[in-house]
Amino acid sequence: MSALGNFEQDGHTDAEPPEIRLQARAVSRGIVAGRAVCLYGSNRQFYRIEIPVEAVAAELTRFRDAIAAARKQLSRLAGRNKGAIGHSGPGIFAAHLALIDDPSFGSKIENEITRQRVNAEWAIKSVTDEYVSKYKAVTDEHLRDRYIDIEDVSDRILSALGGSSELELLFGKDSVVVAEDLKPSTLVEIFAHGPRAFITENGGWTSHSFILAREMKRPAVTGVKKIFRQIKTGDRVIVDGFNGQVILNPEPEALARVSKTRPQTEIKSSERPAQLGPIATLDGRKVRIYANADDPAAYLRAKEFGAEGIGLFRSEFLLTRFRNRPSEDEQVEAYINAAKAAGEAGVRIRTFDINGDRLADQSFAREPNPALGLRGVRLGLKHKTSLRTQLRALLRASHAGRVDIILPLVSDIGEVQAVRKILAAESRNLRSKGTEVGIPKLGVMVEVPSAVLMADEFAEEADFLCLGTNDLIQYLLAADRDNESVSEWYRTLHPAVVRAVRKVIQAAANANRPVIVCGEMAGSPYYVPLLIGLGASELSMNPTSIPRVRKIISGIAAEEAETLVKNISDARTVNEVESKVDKHIRKNWLHLFPEDFTFH
Ligand code: PEP
Ligand code: MG
Repeated sequence: MSALGNFEQDGHTDAEPPEIRLQARAVSRGIVAGRAVCLYGSNRQFYRIEIPVEAVAAELTRFRDAIAAARKQLSRLAGRNKGAIGHSGPGIFAAHLALIDDPSFGSKIENEITRQRVNAEWAIKSVTDEYVSKYKAVTDEHLRDRYIDIEDVSDRILSALGGSSELELLFGKDSVVVAEDLKPSTLVEIFAHGPRAFITENGGWTSHSFILAREMKRPAVTGVKKIFRQIKTGDRVIVDGFNGQVILNPEPEALARVSKTRPQTEIKSSERPAQLGPIATLDGRKVRIYANADDPAAYLRAKEFGAEGIGLFRSEFLLTRFRNRPSEDEQVEAYINAAKAAGEAGVRIRTFDINGDRLADQSFAREPNPALGLRGVRLGLKHKTSLRTQLRALLRASHAGRVDIILPLVSDIGEVQAVRKILAAESRNLRSKGTEVGIPKLGVMVEVPSAVLMADEFAEEADFLCLGTNDLIQYLLAADRDNESVSEWYRTLHPAVVRAVRKVIQAAANANRPVIVCGEMAGSPYYVPLLIGLGASELSMNPTSIPRVRKIISGIAAEEAETLVKNISDARTVNEVESKVDKHIRKNWLHLFPEDFTFH
């Protein structure tokens, strides 16, 4: 046992601990039992892994390499920011450099790896926690705040460790992943190792991780306060994604209920649509269904349910697949494969919607407010190398199949014009070298209030619009979509959201441009009638949502949906809208909803 103590209790005491029920919020349906595995880290997530004695030397090398990489990044940052941020910027980076070079910090971590025989990530966490709690106890305010620097440096080393780990993931098939925040890249990475369910402290219905969890048909709940104080690695847990509950140390009765419930992993044959292809409402309004899919396999699944093309390909998932550096050729291949799968209906590929910290060159200073920061098309226009590479790949791929482009987080028409210029220049360059290119259409995500207010102009400037309701709700209502504590303010049926959606759909219709609704709203049976009533005729959603949405569309009349829109038009509060929508659905369409469907 090290002087630092062991943070995790893997074993159990003899006395059976009592059953405890923790309140949570359901974000992916289903109920399962399993064993908790706690994940830590904000950038690249990790958990405690015991390593064999013969792997210790390699783990030490991995740690030393990460220190060297982090040192290099910090030196670059300190140099780049000299003079730019006055005195404090370089000072901070110099302090971080000093910390990284502090021999006692490094040797404590190395000792932890050697003596405890744990992975470098866990050793860093243990030592950092020890330092942080010491600094937090200091009375001198100035000195106390040093814990922030320590956390910062430790995060940087943890990031630098990412990508080079040869450690096998040791998840059991019954693992239930527990995390404060679950990163989508972590979820993708661990999915093959079969986690059964997810429990987090933070996140919302539209968080990418939960979009993925629903797609993977794994139950998930969020909103468990002080999660690591309540749940430890090895705890027996039930995740109830129907009622929004976590049951710790479940009694046999609770376990019996789980075993009676059908797992969510397979689509029932009754959910497969009888007919594929275009569908229409009872009174004949045609609605086109696309898939939100990032790889051909996902699309082919969606096609079985009647998807006609890929409405949204979130290309940032390629970053996870290619360790943050997909080359131009790797991108071309991925885009062509998607286009081939999608066939004539084509694929709409959104350029990387990321913050700077996801770029391979991780020398970006951390942003205080990433959702309002250098993200999406802004990042592309500020650091053009990566955008140019991606546009070249898209131009090349669009010669081989129908590939269109979507720009994320657009807030000004000038951004569309700037990208068009780059596209034209890259297209000329490629052609001059004898490379064949296509002519992709250029669409924009409408997900920022300024784009809604300027929807008429955007509809003229862009070839098509994609209505990103996930972000639109967050930016309209100033409520972080990933922050559980403001989930009460993140309300899809806020009258302002309804008005914004209507305005965008009308603007597109006036300009005779397509508009695809592609946020989670489009995949929810509950919101689809409203979207139809507002005039939507193209919806893009996760493959697994398609059967339920098709059932709704073919079971409602557009006229009835328009009546619903009229009914809510004088509602002034979100609660009023919700209760009117609830009432209308129960009165007219209850038979189209599953028995266990949760209304507001
Ligand atoms: C959206 O914002 O609604 C959207 C579709 O994109 P993402 O969820 O990837 O932000
Ligand atoms: Mg978005």
